[in-house]
Amino acid sequence: MAAIDLRSDTVTRPGAAMRAAMAAAAVGDDVYGEDPTVNALQEAAARRVGKEAALFVPSGTMANQAAIRVSTAHGDLVLASEGAHILRYESGAAAAISGVQVATIGSAGIFTAEDVRRALTPRDHHHPPCTLIAVENTHNASGGRVFPLEMLSAVVAVARERGLRLHLDGARLFNAEIATGIPAARWAADFDTVAFCLSKGLGAPVGSLVCGSAATVDRLHRVRKMLGGGMRQAGILAAAGLYALEHNVARIADDHANAARLARGLAALDIFVDPFPETNIVLFSVPNDVDFAARLRASGVLVNTVAPGRFRAVTHLDVASDAIDDALERIRRLCG
Ligand SMILES: *Cc1c(COP(=O)(O)O)cnc(C)c1O
Repeated sequence: MAAIDLRSDTVTRPGAAMRAAMAAAAVGDDVYGEDPTVNALQEAAARRVGKEAALFVPSGTMANQAAIRVSTAHGDLVLASEGAHILRYESGAAAAISGVQVATIGSAGIFTAEDVRRALTPRDHHHPPCTLIAVENTHNASGGRVFPLEMLSAVVAVARERGLRLHLDGARLFNAEIATGIPAARWAADFDTVAFCLSKGLGAPVGSLVCGSAATVDRLHRVRKMLGGGMRQAGILAAAGLYALEHNVARIADDHANAARLARGLAALDIFVDPFPETNIVLFSVPNDVDFAARLRASGVLVNTVAPGRFRAVTHLDVASDAIDDALERIRRLCG
């Protein structure tokens, strides 16, 4: 019985065509700027999100943290969403690397312009100066939620008015593009820095991009070197990313359909699904059953526990719709 792995969209394995592209990649030493495949990926990524330049980094965490580093000074305040990945799941990096405080605003992954205004401290010597707002779109901890565009435009207006910089943690930016039909470049337009992952819904084994103006990317480049993220013949990895950008964006629609299918199936089993997924992350609760994930694992379905009695299932390119039906059947037997 093959396991159905719904823990994360990072568990995908590169298929034959992606591996062939990796094997055939032209490479050079990227620390010298001489890897043609890395350069091609960076150009394609910058074009895709409508920025002047992009930098290939090993992880989404490095993309976010390098962006925070170039947009802040030690002692600054960064505003982010409740449950923000940059605060909760990056091992304290914003404090350790950039020396910033992160305050969270709003709820369930989104916030309003008014939330920003209320959190902005007076400009006097008692308060840390707020210099950066970070938006996460889609929002992981709140179930892959899309940040509404009008709400974002209002937040951008306050940031402009107050001279703040803006970072987009777009680890799943293309999920937002596919869910809304609004192009990634439009979502990214008002941000100084934009990070997105190749290793999530796009199905590449490794890598993220951090994008911005040429001057910003030049500064990011130095931070990447400081953090140990300068890689040599990285074109082998970049080839997978180029393949993913070309072949795996439109198909994210299947992941969203599968997440909705899973959510409806769980609800039909009287399992509480909340919120109904907008993209590829399904959050559900089985109250008073802290061992549910372990029992589910024993029947060959892998999910993550996010809180006692609360679980997360993520759809991705290695789970087809019949695997979703199969998972639902295994869950039904467990609950029956
Ligand atoms: C996964 C993720 C990241 C970082 O990813 P890594 O590549 O695992 O470091 C950043 N932000 C969000 C919202 C994520 O889901």
